[in-house]
Amino acid sequence: MAGDGRSPTGRRVVMFPFPFGSHITPMLQLAGLLRARGLAVTVLHADLNAPDPARHPDFTFVSIRESLPDEVVSSPDMVEQMIGLNAACEAPFQAALAELVRGGGPREVACAVVDGQWYKMLGAATRAGVPALALRTDGAATFLTMLATPRLHADGYDRLDELVPGLEPLRLRDLIRVDGSDEETVLRFITRVTDAMRESSSGVVVNTFGAIEGAELAKIKRELSLPAFAVGPLHLVSPAPVGHGRPYAPDRGCLAWLDAQPPRSVLYVSLGSTACVDRAAFVEMAWGLAGSGVPFLWVLRPGSVHGADDVLPFPEELLDTVSCRGKVVGWSPQREVLAHPAVGGFWTHCGWNSIMEGICEGVPMLVQPCFADQTVNARYVTHRWGTGLEIGKVFERTAMARTIRMLMAREQGPQAPKERAHLLKMEASRCVGAGGAASLALDDLVEYMLGL
Ligand code: UDP
Repeated sequence: MAGDGRSPTGRRVVMFPFPFGSHITPMLQLAGLLRARGLAVTVLHADLNAPDPARHPDFTFVSIRESLPDEVVSSPDMVEQMIGLNAACEAPFQAALAELVRGGGPREVACAVVDGQWYKMLGAATRAGVPALALRTDGAATFLTMLATPRLHADGYDRLDELVPGLEPLRLRDLIRVDGSDEETVLRFITRVTDAMRESSSGVVVNTFGAIEGAELAKIKRELSLPAFAVGPLHLVSPAPVGHGRPYAPDRGCLAWLDAQPPRSVLYVSLGSTACVDRAAFVEMAWGLAGSGVPFLWVLRPGSVHGADDVLPFPEELLDTVSCRGKVVGWSPQREVLAHPAVGGFWTHCGWNSIMEGICEGVPMLVQPCFADQTVNARYVTHRWGTGLEIGKVFERTAMARTIRMLMAREQGPQAPKERAHLLKMEASRCVGAGGAASLALDDLVEYMLGL
């Protein structure tokens, strides 16, 4: 076996990330932690969005050399694309894994860790004679909703605005939906993911921690009768560098701009790497920010407004406000921004990485979920953790400006988002400190892997 054959344990773990940016990063972060615990790491990967081996000299990288039909690569339907990727990668993954097993010493390959969206790979690993765990790169609550969805559907559960029994504080309307994919396709995908987990997985690893999702993790263990390991927040505990699949180079000039702002005064606005808004929403957001009187740093990716390839111009009446109170960038160094003392609030689309990064820096949030797990995460921010406010059901500038001011206000009570966010930051620090829950979970995970 090529590369890092020296491992103190003499055992190897094979990782297989899903080829989307926000999935690759947590998988490599987990790989870094397993490597530091004495396991050799081979990263099997698709050629689509392949990771850069030069950035990870401690891992061995092997391509599965999949051949993807054009309709999968260019599918506008993200869920159909994930189903197509599973179909196209199953056989090459199984062959590559079997080859690694043949090429290694006896019992060298301890197990595989595949992304939770790779439902076909759990069975493929078993057929190659390798036990496999699934890494969920979203939260435990989201995975719990996936486990419940086929049952809710079969029961014809349709009470959109009521709390779903067993999933509180979630309502049916908060569960996963994906723009551009019909409900049947999403259900088909979720059913495959959860069936594979029940049938072929040896366990589940989740990028979360007990203080925010301890109850959800316990429910997952009960429901699957499998071990579940909360090894997060991965971005804080892992030595591996991040930044895979990021669409743009970060504009670091915004950090100097933040340096010139008073403490906790700036609202950071970002909808992540894929969420888009329509023109009307963009204009209301701009007016809402202007009307709030709050300084803001706004990430506007080219193409993040539907139907516009580039960044849309601001309404002319707002240009003065934007230039004297705002800073607009195409992509930010988000983790550094959230850690900056001038940032006092985060207007977010509620992608899981953004949620974890915001929680760990103690930044209260305004939630504007767009699709997928974002609605689940948003509801947890407002109704479970109490660390944020809804930006508004109806996108309306005056209401938005009021909500922004409320979030950023200086004087607040003990139940205010700002205070709650500070408490969760403390919990996150405890979790990643020496002997904390993250490190204990990782010890358990490694012991479990070596015993498989
Ligand atoms: N991010 C960044 N700069 C930006 C916007 C986002 O570095 O201007 C990073 C952010 O720190 C996070 C990731 O991109 O790690 C977004 O992941 P998330 O799961 O929040 O959302 P997605 O992009 O998958 O919708």
